[in-house]
Amino acid sequence: MIIQPKIRGFICTTAHPLGCAAHVDEQIAYVTSRPPIKGPKRVLVIGASTGYGLASRIAAAFSSGAATLGVFFEKPASDLRTATAGWYNTAAFEKQARDAGLYAKSINGDAFSDAVKAETIETIKKDLGQVDLVVYSLASPRRTHPKTGETFVSALKPIGKVYQNKTVNFHTGEVSVVTLEPASDDEIQQTVHVMGGEDWSMWIHELRAAGVLAEGVVTLAYSYIGPEVTKAVYRDGTIGRAKDDLEATAHALTKEMSDIGGKAYVSVNKAVVTQSSSAIPVVPLYISLLFRVMKEKGLHEGCTEQMYRLFADRLYRDGDVLVDEQGRIRMDDYEMRDDVQEIVSSLWGQVDTKNVEVLSDLGGYRSEFLKLFGFGLDEVDYEEDVDPNVGL
Ligand code: NAD
Repeated sequence: MIIQPKIRGFICTTAHPLGCAAHVDEQIAYVTSRPPIKGPKRVLVIGASTGYGLASRIAAAFSSGAATLGVFFEKPASDLRTATAGWYNTAAFEKQARDAGLYAKSINGDAFSDAVKAETIETIKKDLGQVDLVVYSLASPRRTHPKTGETFVSALKPIGKVYQNKTVNFHTGEVSVVTLEPASDDEIQQTVHVMGGEDWSMWIHELRAAGVLAEGVVTLAYSYIGPEVTKAVYRDGTIGRAKDDLEATAHALTKEMSDIGGKAYVSVNKAVVTQSSSAIPVVPLYISLLFRVMKEKGLHEGCTEQMYRLFADRLYRDGDVLVDEQGRIRMDDYEMRDDVQEIVSSLWGQVDTKNVEVLSDLGGYRSEFLKLFGFGLDEVDYEEDVDPNVGL
């Protein structure tokens, strides 16, 4: 099969196995070029196939020599379709990990379900005994509650009032004004059920009850704060309510795990291009401007750089874990620097369809987006016939 990108809105419906493998290799090469970390040795990553979860898995395995168990929801190739990018990423990661003598296994299924939690626990018992780090990095538009069977759907909406701001169609470069109606109370609650801390809590309770959390275990989940321009749709919107809930869950879990010396942290990460962030209105335009400014200042980071720095400089440094006054790890420190935000905010006022390619790094955004699906990598010949069937 000759595999080319097929874009539908903010997703790409094809993925390239060799391109995804080259992208994973690039991430591994970054991590191995940095000093090793005295970090965790047995790691569970929930949401391990793309974005921040994949980068966490790579940092744990290749900086700290960890055995990793990954959980995710991806699709293998069929007669008509390529596999999803996360499937190819995982196949490439597992191969590299095993070649490096590291344990790497994966469970593909709905992480919100009881069945996947049970299978994960059985695998840990059999293969690892216990885990010292649990990364919770799910991003999903919906969740079916495992006990009630109710399905919740998340919304990306402001709360309380209508929100209008600029947004970009990152494929065409058209800048337009988007109007978002405020969420209903039900939409707020449903978003909290999907992206808040309830499922994280369920995972930790079940892992703990099964005795598979090691003494001094750390669990991490990821959050975002961001600038004034995205505040109404992000931090003060429905997804922000879910993040407030996630952050409150970290405090509750730390209390509950005190007898085993366990700690739960939320790490506030920077804005990066992932399948999930491309779906949020306004955010891709902000990221395109941010990338330009951070690149010019030599501060640019993607998921891998962020996750390596999280492990090396915050979590597994000599000394206490570095947190802010609310107990959160802050990996958005460069993004939120005053000198960065002042320029982004001034560019925001000027940007339109005519100047977006010049004022922002929209080109950089597009190539990062395509790379998520394994396209645009120099070392790959996209005219070559490739077998889309790759086993895990
Ligand atoms: P992503 O879309 O790249 O990854 C999501 C992961 O969740 C994938 O591995 C996917 O397979 C898995 N997943 C989704 N539904 C699942 C299900 N039902 N069962 C099992 N696995 C499932 O997303 P991301 O952007 O890396 O987001 C991860 C976390 O990081 C989220 O909490 C997000 O809010 C946070 N975050 C993202 C950004 C950003 O800019 N992208 C910034 C800060 C924080």
